[in-house]
Amino acid sequence: MKKFNYHLVKDIKEAKKLSSPNSTFLAGGMTTIPSMKLGLGTYKDIIDIKGIKKLSGIKVSGKILKIGATTKHVEVANSKEVKKSIPSLAALAEGIGDPQVRNKGTIGGSIANNDPAADYPSACIALNASINTSNNRKIDSENFFRGLFETALKKGEIIESIEFEIPLKSNYQKFPNPASRYAIVGVYVSKYKSGTNVAVTGAKSCVYNDKDLSKALSNNFSSSAIDKVKISSSGMSSDIHASGNYRANMVKVFAKKAVEAC
Ligand SMILES: Cc1cc2nc3c(=O)[nH]c(=O)nc-3n(C[C@H](O)[C@H](O)[C@H](O)COP(=O)(O)OP(=O)(O)OC[C@H]3O[C@@H](n4cnc5c(N)ncnc54)[C@H](O)[C@@H]3O)c2cc1C
Repeated sequence: MKKFNYHLVKDIKEAKKLSSPNSTFLAGGMTTIPSMKLGLGTYKDIIDIKGIKKLSGIKVSGKILKIGATTKHVEVANSKEVKKSIPSLAALAEGIGDPQVRNKGTIGGSIANNDPAADYPSACIALNASINTSNNRKIDSENFFRGLFETALKKGEIIESIEFEIPLKSNYQKFPNPASRYAIVGVYVSKYKSGTNVAVTGAKSCVYNDKDLSKALSNNFSSSAIDKVKISSSGMSSDIHASGNYRANMVKVFAKKAVEAC
C-alpha cells in the first residue's frame, strides 16, 4: 500500500474542503481498502466521513423511509423501522456479504460504488429512491446509476441520505455468489398503487429497471403474468459463474419467486 494522509472529519464542510482529484471518501472501507491493497486505487488523501453525525440514522415519516449514508448494513438489517416499513430491505441488508462486511459496510458506500452485482442499487430503483447529496441535489435513482461503477455523483459530492418510497408489497430474491454473496442475479419487485417496479442487479454491467416485467406486473400482479415476458440475453454478463443465457433465465425465475413471496 502506498503512503497517504488520513483525515477523520467532523462535518461535510471539512470533508468537501479536503476533497481533491487525488482524494477519496472512506465510509466502511469494504471496497476502498481492498482496492488500495491490490494497488487498484491510489490516493493522497483519505477522508473518513464516518464521524459525521448528520450522515447516519434511520427515520420513517409518512410514506418515506430515510436512511443516512453511513448507516451500516447490520443497522439496516436489524432496524425495527426498516423491518416494519420495508421488510424486504432489511432482508436484503441481512444477505450482504458476511458479518464483517455487514458490520463495516455502509449503504452510501455501496450506492456510490455502484458495483454491477451489488444489492442496494436494485432496492433504490425498485423502491423509487431519491439520493440526497451535499450539493443540495435530490437525484432519482433512475438517473443516479449511470453504468459500470459509474454514478451521477460529481467529484467531491457526498451522499447524505437515501429516501425510499414505502411500497404496498415488495420482495428481493437473489442467487448469491457462494464466495462473496454478491448477486449473480438479484431481482427486486415492489408494488405501488401506481404500478410495479422490477429492478435487476448482477445481470448486466449496471442495475436496471426491467420495463417489460414492470409493465406486465403493473397490469396483473401475479407470477403467471411473467410467463409471457421474453427476457433477452443481449447485454447480459457472461463469466465463469453464469452465461448470459443462464442469467436471462434467472431474471425470470427470480421475478416469479419475488412476486410469489410478496
Ligand atoms: C468480501 C465482501 C463481500 C461483499 N458482498 C457483498 C454483497 O453480497 N452484496 C453487496 O451489495 N455488496 C457486497 N460487498 C460490498 C459491501 O457492501 C461494501 O460495503 C460496499 O461496496 C462499499 O461500502 P463501504 O461503506 O465499505 O464503502 P467504502 O469502501 O468506504 O467506499 C466505497 C466508495 O464509495 C465512496 N463513498 C463512500 N461513502 C460515500 C458517500 N456517503 N458519498 C459519496 N461517496 C461515498 C468512496 O469514496 C469509495 O469510492 C462485499 C464486500 C466484500 C469485501
